[in-house]
Amino acid sequence: MDRVDLAVVGGGVIGALVAREAVAAFPDATVAVLERGLIGQGASSRSAGVHFPRGATGRVRSMSEHSERVWKHLAAELDLPIRELDATVVAGDADAVSATYLRLGAETAPADPARGWAAPPGSRAWELDGCQYADVQGVTGRVLASLRDRVSVLEATEVTELSYDGEYHRLTLGQGRELLARRVVLAPGPWLAHPAWADLVAPLGLRVKKVVATHIESSPAPDDPLTIFHDEDAFLLPLHERGHYLFSYTCDRWDVAPDDVDLVLEASDLDDARAVLGRFAPGLVARCTSGRVFCDAYSPRREPVVAELRPGLVFAGAANGSGYRLAPAIAAETVAALDLTPTGTISQPLQRQS
Ligand SMILES: Cc1cc2nc3c(=O)[nH]c(=O)nc-3n(C[C@H](O)[C@H](O)[C@H](O)COP(=O)(O)OP(=O)(O)OC[C@H]3O[C@@H](n4cnc5c(N)ncnc54)[C@H](O)[C@@H]3O)c2cc1C
Repeated sequence: MDRVDLAVVGGGVIGALVAREAVAAFPDATVAVLERGLIGQGASSRSAGVHFPRGATGRVRSMSEHSERVWKHLAAELDLPIRELDATVVAGDADAVSATYLRLGAETAPADPARGWAAPPGSRAWELDGCQYADVQGVTGRVLASLRDRVSVLEATEVTELSYDGEYHRLTLGQGRELLARRVVLAPGPWLAHPAWADLVAPLGLRVKKVVATHIESSPAPDDPLTIFHDEDAFLLPLHERGHYLFSYTCDRWDVAPDDVDLVLEASDLDDARAVLGRFAPGLVARCTSGRVFCDAYSPRREPVVAELRPGLVFAGAANGSGYRLAPAIAAETVAALDLTPTGTISQPLQRQS
């Protein structure tokens, strides 16, 4: 039977960063990433991929700072599809803004007629440094591509059962194969209810929420900034590579399932997005015609979760719609929770699939 030191279940952006962090910290460890579809095809494929340096709690602010440093370094090292851009934060409450954002710049005009938006009366605006956005699926694929000589990446490989004998975790794989792992990281994105781990994950109190970002048929100019409407938890992002804007707003539909065929852009989603957008940019409302829809895992405290569910089995995720921007810090916390010091007991490394 195949054996590894670490099995990472889920090949999204969090699983990829965990694998990278694990081989960096434990170069002699054998690591496998198990992905039931293709790498990066889950929530990571629909992500707007925005990073802004902010956090509602001290832990998230520190995760944001750590992640920003790692993304900057990795973007240069691996030539990742990440683009830095200027940003503006619009809000009514200056104290809330300074408590939440890490790199606020000068106060600026709360309107940009050239780009078609103006803040409601009473709002103020500030420049914000350190923002970027990514093609998250592309980033995920490239991070794992850089690890292929050290990490076994098994796609079309669903983990169907998980058990523990006190020493090894036994993973039953879709093709009927089995894998023994000394440590397991569960990074399943919104697939929290999979029968292999639903009972293990249930005590964490996580829920899955629909996430919607609409597309606006308006071509961005090369230097157009990201605009964050802090009070609405919304943002307007120029997607340069795709030639249109994206408007992210907060969809409030809970307890959806990632494989549900009804998880689509509904007329009510467009109505809700247009209602929020109309407060700032009425001229763009008619161009808000399509979008991207999926879901993400959310935690009760709205902080990412890194939690040991069994000895040597750690859950990593529930990043509350911020799984791209916080992935490096989630990975660092996860690997810190694993003892991957080689024991010499792993004698049969995983064979690659033919
Ligand atoms: C529309 C939208 C916009 C977003 N915008 C942003 C943003 O601007 N900034 C930001 O930071 N975040 C954003 N997010 C959130 C972010 O995309 C997610 O938090 C992040 O992608 C989660 O990564 P993950 O690796 O945990 O999950 P996923 O990418 O979902 O990866 C989990 C993987 O596990 C696999 N899997 C599941 N079950 C099994 C099994 N039994 N066996 C093997 N593999 C399995 C799945 O196939 C999947 O590929 C957005 C999300 C959406 C939907």
